[in-house]
Amino acid sequence: MTPTLVAPPSARPAADLIAKYDGRAPRYTSYPPATQFTAEVTAERYQAWLAALPTDEAVSLYLHIPFCARLCWYCGCNTRAVNRHEPVGDYVRLLLDEIDLLGAALPARLSAGAVHFGGGTPNMLSLSEIDAIFDRLGQVFDLTPDLDVAIEMDPAVLTRDWVQAAAARGMTRASLGVQNLTPEVQAAVNRQDTFEHIADCVDWLREAKVGSINLDLMYGLPYQTTANTLSTLDQLLSLRPERLALFGYAHVPWMKSHQKLIDEAALPGPQARLDQSESAAERLAAEGYVRIGLDHFALPDDPMAKALAAGTLRRNFQGYTTDPAGTLLGMGASAIGGLPRGFVQNATHELTWRAAVKEGRLPVARGVAVSDDDRFRAEIIERLMCDFSVDLAAVCARHGRNPQGLAAELASLTPFVADGLAEIRGFHVQVLPPGRLLVRSIAAVFDAYFNADSQRHAKAI
Ligand code: SF4
Repeated sequence: MTPTLVAPPSARPAADLIAKYDGRAPRYTSYPPATQFTAEVTAERYQAWLAALPTDEAVSLYLHIPFCARLCWYCGCNTRAVNRHEPVGDYVRLLLDEIDLLGAALPARLSAGAVHFGGGTPNMLSLSEIDAIFDRLGQVFDLTPDLDVAIEMDPAVLTRDWVQAAAARGMTRASLGVQNLTPEVQAAVNRQDTFEHIADCVDWLREAKVGSINLDLMYGLPYQTTANTLSTLDQLLSLRPERLALFGYAHVPWMKSHQKLIDEAALPGPQARLDQSESAAERLAAEGYVRIGLDHFALPDDPMAKALAAGTLRRNFQGYTTDPAGTLLGMGASAIGGLPRGFVQNATHELTWRAAVKEGRLPVARGVAVSDDDRFRAEIIERLMCDFSVDLAAVCARHGRNPQGLAAELASLTPFVADGLAEIRGFHVQVLPPGRLLVRSIAAVFDAYFNADSQRHAKAI
C-alpha cells in the first residue's frame, strides 16, 4: 500500500524552490519528447505508419509557413525574414506537392476535422495561395462541414481585406502575437506594434465573425517589468479576447543565434520573471479568465475552459488544445506530426525539405516510434500537464498495469511533497498551486528518458 503524503500548507511558488527544481525538463508537447527523435524514422517508416491509419477517424492537419516580414529577436520558431514574395510562392507550390505525397500514402480518403496554419507568419500567404492550399486539401481529404481552421498571425502585416478573405474561406480561430506593448521592450526585441493597431486587428476579426481570438503575451523579455506587463495586459483586456497565452521568454542563443542580439544584461532575473508571470495570472483570474495548464487563459464559456472542466483537455505540438484527433499530420519544413504508431518531424532546413519533395519523397528527417510503455507514460504526463493531477490507478487500469509498479516514481515525488508542491493520496497525484510552474519537473518523474543533467531544454520559469 502506498502511503498518503500530504503537503504542509503553502501559498505561492517561491523563487528558491523554483531554483531548486528547475531541472530544465521538456515542455512535454509530446511523449516521448522531441529530444528522443532520431533519424531511425525514415520516409519509408512514416509511409508504413500512414498506411496503417484507421480509416474511420478524422485526422487533424498542421501546415508550417516558415516566413516572416520581420525577425523578432526573441523568436524560437523555425522561420526566416523575407522581403520578397517569390520564396513564399515557391514554397507553397511544393507544399501542394507534399499534400499529394501524403494523400498517396494514406489507406483511404480520410476526413479532416481541423487545419492549423502555424509559422512563421501564415498571413504572409496571398489569398490565391490560401485558396490553392484549401483546394488541394479538399482533393485529398474530406474536410468536415464544421472544419476548425486556426491561423497564427503577425499583426504587423495583417490587413482587413486579408481577414475578410480568410474568414470567407473558413477561418474559425485566430491567434495574434502581441508579447508586450512597452516601446522600450519592443525596441529591445525588434518588434514594434501599437495597441491601436492590435485593436484594429481584433475589430476586423470580430467584424468577420471569427469566433475565437487568442492573444499571445510574453514575460521575461528585456526591460520587461511587472508594471509594464500589467499595463500591457490591461490594454489588451479591454478587447476581451476569448483566450490569452502567456509564455516565458526562453533565452537559448546557443540554439537561436539571432537571440544574441538581445542584451542579456536587460533580461529580468528568476524572481522578476516569476513576479511578472504570477501577477499577470492573478490579474487575468480577477478579470474572470480560467487558468489553463501552464500558460493559457480562457473565458469560462470558451471550449478550452470547458475541456479543462470536463477533463478532456489535450496537449500537442501547438500547446494546449481541445482537438481530440488521434492523428495530426504535419506539412511543411520542420512540421511535426503525431500518429498512433509514433511521431515524425519533417526536415527543419527548408532546402532539405524542398529537395525531398522535389524528388517525390515524404520529407521526413526524424521521429520516434511509440511503445506501449510510452503510451502509458504519455497519458500520465499529459494529465499532469493539463489537469495538474492524475489518478494513477485509473491510468494503470486502462493500460493493464499494476500501480505498484510506479512505486519508484512515487518515491521520487517525496521532495516535491515535502516542499508543498504536490500531494499524494493513495495513487492520486495532485500538483498544488505553488507547484504549477514546476509541473514539467514533476511530470519528468514519470519520463523514462529524462536525464536531469541535460541542458537541452529551456528553464521552466
Ligand atoms: S513574427 Fe512571429 S514567427 Fe516571425 S519572427 Fe516574429 S515572433 Fe517569430
